[in-house]
Amino acid sequence: MSAGRVDVCVVGAGPAGAVAAKRLAESGFGVVVLEQGHWPDYSQARAAEPDFEIDSGPEWGWNPNVRGREQDYPVECSESDIDVLVYNAVGGGTIVYAAQWHRSLPSDFRVRTLDGVADDWPLTYEDLRPFYERVETDFGVSGLAGDPALPPGAGPPLPPVPLGRMGRRVAQAHNRLGRHWWPGSNAIATREYGALRPCVQRAACLFGCADGAKSSVDRTHWPEAVGRGVRLETGARARRVVCDRDGLADGVEWVDRAGREHLTRADVVILCANGIGTPRLLLLSGGLANSSGLVGRRLMLHPFGIVTGLFEDDLDSAQGVWGQHLYSLEFYETDTDRGFVRGGKWGLQPTGGPLSVTRPWPWGDHPLWGAGFHDGVRRRLGHSAMWGIVTEDLPDESNRVVLDETLTDSDGLPAPKIIYRIGENSRRLMDFHLARAGESLVEAGAYETITAPRIRATGWHQLGTVKMGTDPADSVVDPWGRAHDVPNLFVFDGSTWPTSSGTNPVATIAAMSLRCTEHLIAGRRAQEVPT
Ligand SMILES: Cc1cc2nc3c(=O)[nH]c(=O)nc-3n(C[C@H](O)[C@H](O)[C@H](O)COP(=O)(O)OP(=O)(O)OC[C@H]3O[C@@H](n4cnc5c(N)ncnc54)[C@H](O)[C@@H]3O)c2cc1C
Ligand code: SF4
Repeated sequence: MSAGRVDVCVVGAGPAGAVAAKRLAESGFGVVVLEQGHWPDYSQARAAEPDFEIDSGPEWGWNPNVRGREQDYPVECSESDIDVLVYNAVGGGTIVYAAQWHRSLPSDFRVRTLDGVADDWPLTYEDLRPFYERVETDFGVSGLAGDPALPPGAGPPLPPVPLGRMGRRVAQAHNRLGRHWWPGSNAIATREYGALRPCVQRAACLFGCADGAKSSVDRTHWPEAVGRGVRLETGARARRVVCDRDGLADGVEWVDRAGREHLTRADVVILCANGIGTPRLLLLSGGLANSSGLVGRRLMLHPFGIVTGLFEDDLDSAQGVWGQHLYSLEFYETDTDRGFVRGGKWGLQPTGGPLSVTRPWPWGDHPLWGAGFHDGVRRRLGHSAMWGIVTEDLPDESNRVVLDETLTDSDGLPAPKIIYRIGENSRRLMDFHLARAGESLVEAGAYETITAPRIRATGWHQLGTVKMGTDPADSVVDPWGRAHDVPNLFVFDGSTWPTSSGTNPVATIAAMSLRCTEHLIAGRRAQEVPT
């Protein structure tokens, strides 16, 4: 089935797709969006019920292989040190994300110049700054301007979430240690803001926010985009970008949940299917835009470290946002005396309700079971605080996404297979940061710290697999997301990142998508399109 031609076809309704589609619609473009998932059903979230942690898994779990719904595609991870975590729905990963919101730092764009590794981005922090400011307003980010570790500029529109007892204890410890900390920035509303309601501090953010306070793009972007005429097709799995005889993208072939085949013809195609879904689709399209051989390569997954402290006092840490109550950039920049380059960001998080304190996440190899179970729950519940550490992952061409030879999704399309090993630099970086984070919690009064390095279920940031650059021999897309090989095919998600930074990615994914969209709109008259 083939409908009439549209101006733009976007694949993926996560934050990258939402930002692009909304802005294009505001500028008068006719837009069709293909999303294999559906609108989230918050009636299933049950965050107000005391047992919500028990039955959140099938609907709100982070691992597509565990959820296994027909709108999910499986991800083969047996040759990866880390399991990939994605959410397939209108809103993409923002439905289950922790909503920690963090801009990249100026040094993140210049790691070749500063540290002699990987590549510089073909743009600077200053180029992206106005777009950060705009998306922070659109997402309703809360936080506090003036962090001396960041360049000056406008801050987020809403005040930060409360530090709480846990945050105050650790902040005071950092003051004594002379270490950096700053109130957390989160895509969580601290008061009524547009479509968002004020956060009620239930710590259910990672299982779908039924209270309407977390800034997921099904709330902040899609209703308005649809209101402006965007046609959002749900249950629509893109299986191939189709090209014409001149090598221009001519549209996207897709399958609906009833198995019917469709073709959406478009003047421009924008892929926003994330660092796994986008290279998968290019590979499914016969290796499209891959003259550099880099499609799928340089996968970065941000190895994630966790140190949890146990405290005698009740820190009220079963509550609060599961974003970051405060963060520290103390060890973010390179110090070569440490034996590695680059660094990471620490976010102070609660440890969840009674079930969360028994599980491998965030406790690593220390889940609770059997003898000592009740004592363990008593010691952990509300009496613990956790540093979650996002570490910079350097690109390596052997870390990659390929098509699996046997595993398929519910439409019979080859599933992505991940081949990924944590590099030596990341291992050293992680060990250093875990040790320093443990010191921080001890200074805050922890009588015991539990370190959970390298938990498999932490691959929530997928970056780098469709590299951006100016040289077609060494990159797939240009600095505006346009494929070097296919001038009307664009990639606006985190696939394009030349390096990974050490911060949570949605702020930069959203800002980059907006920047690329504005460039596409400005150049509309010169845009090459199929005839
Ligand atoms: C549990 C968890 C916690 C996280 N916490 C944070 C955090 O605190 N802060 C932060 O910054 N980031 C966090 N992230 C990461 C963040 O959610 C992602 O980086 C972000 O959502 C990526 O945005 P995107 O638009 O590129 O892709 P996605 O949000 O992944 O959206 C891509 C969409 O494309 C769709 N799609 C893919 N392939 C196809 C196809 N062939 N046809 C049709 N549709 C397709 C998918 O169904 C999906 O909905 C977290 C992620 C998870 C899973
Ligand atoms: S803590 Fe706030 S943002 Fe998180 S789920 Fe609860 S209401 Fe939503």
